[in-house]
Amino acid sequence: MVLSGPQRVISFNYTLKDSSGQIIDQSAEGPMSFLTGVGQIIPKLEEELKGMMISQKKNVKLAAADAYGLPDPKMVMDVPKADLAHLKIEVGGFLQLNLGQTMKVVRIAKISEESVTLDGNHPLAGQDLEFDVEVMNSREATAEEVAHGHAHGPGGHHH
Ligand code: ZN
Repeated sequence: MVLSGPQRVISFNYTLKDSSGQIIDQSAEGPMSFLTGVGQIIPKLEEELKGMMISQKKNVKLAAADAYGLPDPKMVMDVPKADLAHLKIEVGGFLQLNLGQTMKVVRIAKISEESVTLDGNHPLAGQDLEFDVEVMNSREATAEEVAHGHAHGPGGHHH
């Protein structure tokens, strides 16, 4: 991990929209806080936020490749419907797969007669996104936050 300059904790409000202007997500319960330099948020968005001042607002447009990436066809797989017979499944629902050491959340993309198509890509992969952001606070990270690799306090981590 290469860090340039002291790490900061930035708190910001955001509204996330897709390319048609539809709101996908927003910071509803107070601003979100993150520690810079650890890849906690989309890198391009972090770059923009780092260059902003407190109470500054900005509209940030991200192409899919700079947001959650492009869908990877290798992350899409068909499984026999019979294998999932014990589960209640519907298109758009999510399944948690137990892959030995790790858990993987996949979206149910298609259900056909014999098989079910599971998609392990991020739900927003392939989408151009637009963030309306407002920086609410920006401060130097504490030694403890740097050691933990995350922000503490409101909007961050609680121990
Ligand atoms: Zn911590």
